[in-house]
Amino acid sequence: KAVRPQIFAKFSTDAKLYSKQHNPPRVPNLIGGAFIESRSSEYIDVINPATQEVVSQLPLTTNEEFKAAVSAAKQAFPSWRNTPITTRQRVMLKLQELIRRDIDKLAMNITTEQGKTLKDAQGDVFRGLEVVEHACGMATLQMGEYVPNVSNGIDTYSLREPLGVCAGICPFNFPAMIPLWMFPVAVTCGNTFVLKPSEKDPGASIMLAELAMEAGLPDGVLNIVHGTHDTVNAICDDANIRAISFVGSNVAGMHIYARASAKGKRVQSNMGAKNHGIVLPDANMDATLNALAAAGFGAAGQRCMALSTVVFVGDSKSWEDKLVERAKALKVNAGTEADADLGPVISKQAKERICRLIQSGIESGARLLLDGRNIVKQAPSLTRNSKWNQQAGMAANKDLMDDKQVPGYEHGNFIGPTILTDVTADMECYKEEIFGPVLLCMQADSLEEAIKIVNKNQYGNGAAIFTSSGAAARKFQTEIEAGQVGINVPIPVPLPFFSFTGSKASFAGDLNFYGKAGVNFYTQIKTVTQQWRDLPGGSGVSLAMPTSQ
Ligand code: NAD
Repeated sequence: KAVRPQIFAKFSTDAKLYSKQHNPPRVPNLIGGAFIESRSSEYIDVINPATQEVVSQLPLTTNEEFKAAVSAAKQAFPSWRNTPITTRQRVMLKLQELIRRDIDKLAMNITTEQGKTLKDAQGDVFRGLEVVEHACGMATLQMGEYVPNVSNGIDTYSLREPLGVCAGICPFNFPAMIPLWMFPVAVTCGNTFVLKPSEKDPGASIMLAELAMEAGLPDGVLNIVHGTHDTVNAICDDANIRAISFVGSNVAGMHIYARASAKGKRVQSNMGAKNHGIVLPDANMDATLNALAAAGFGAAGQRCMALSTVVFVGDSKSWEDKLVERAKALKVNAGTEADADLGPVISKQAKERICRLIQSGIESGARLLLDGRNIVKQAPSLTRNSKWNQQAGMAANKDLMDDKQVPGYEHGNFIGPTILTDVTADMECYKEEIFGPVLLCMQADSLEEAIKIVNKNQYGNGAAIFTSSGAAARKFQTEIEAGQVGINVPIPVPLPFFSFTGSKASFAGDLNFYGKAGVNFYTQIKTVTQQWRDLPGGSGVSLAMPTSQ
């Protein structure tokens, strides 16, 4: 049964109510240009993490439906790859306009399903929108190369051609940005696409697909399927899929990388992180504290580029005291509330995991400077100017750890900003990605020692230094083993004319997301050697390997 996209009637651009048939509404598949209700008998609830309200129900797309989506993509490929690049670019030009038009609706959907604040959700959409803008210049990005007269009368040129059907598997934490890292680049290169959004927050993907179709993307060029492990394995195994873009955890990412590569597919796999910030004594204190609090606790720490560990060089106490003060002033609330600095974490299970890792840190000797595990309500005495008194640390924590729930959101998965210090590299809370609003503090005697700590960590997504010394910054930039380096910049996520360049355990593959590398990922090179000259007759047959003449 094909229906127009009305699933997210609350948010959707289309007013017709699919949800009238089901309450809560069911998330449709998108197959061959039609939003179709799945025939699956198995559904997963999509839950608002601030309220536990069931926002919608997501089907585990059946194998038959999955095959139909891949087949639709395969059928759409020949004519789409032959569609002029200028036409493909114009679809993106229109899409970026439509995303701007609907950015508030997209943000509201993200906040409802994912929990982040509305302002942060707007940023989520905007960082994806920039990739769409970049795809508008695909003709230039996809250009081949040409060398005339490589031999007498012979020219060689290379073409960057699309691969065919590509697929994307998304995480929950950026429901708009990450799908937009994937399909706009892939389809503007001439590929067709099968997208699997996160089962936790599929709404933004559906809305973006609606917009892409409104922008003129032909039927079958973008398809959407849903599910978890089985759908992912089907993507890895399907012989018609040529390349997979994955963003998510290491367990899933390495599984996908191994399984899909074994089937001969290209894979780019962006995975987990433990991003460090090194703070030198000469850093600008106010700006650095603001950066640490924002990058540690923003999005409730659920960013792969969150700064989750700070290494203070030299005396750390005054820094830590002030950091606690800033963290305590942050407002924990539902993302839809105007005063919220950070919202809930994605699920009850995520909250339990984060609390367990905090507890394990304490049990292995870390000192808890700020405990957000039970915080759910801002204590009235805590204002942005409140003073943190080290001696009265636990009492102040108690203030914050008010047992009451966030008013109106008593069932939300809230965790307040939490700070652990005296953390060492052998602790579980350090080795594991926490992915919550938890900042770990470590100490080092010198920049060399701090760099060693960072480089020993298995992950290599991002690292930042805070200093006013150019020489120290240059040393850091040269010696640090991380793919994305910030110098007085806490979350150095590159804009789309560069690429997202995580390294070490944070990335598997060799062509990164978006930018030139992204275009290279979604294209293969064909090299043509042509000869146009009047050939001399009667020179005979030579069986020797041709060489340049
Ligand atoms: P996740 O790995 O649990 O899920 C990601 C996707 O993989 C989902 O679509 C899910 O259905 C699927 N999946 C999950 N487990 C699977 C398995 N065992 N086999 C097959 N498929 C599986 O990740 P998440 O919790 O949604 O996202 C958070 C993670 O993503 C964090 O580790 C974060 O660092 C990482 N992340 C990385 C980047 C980056 O660019 N490096 C960006 C965003 C998020």
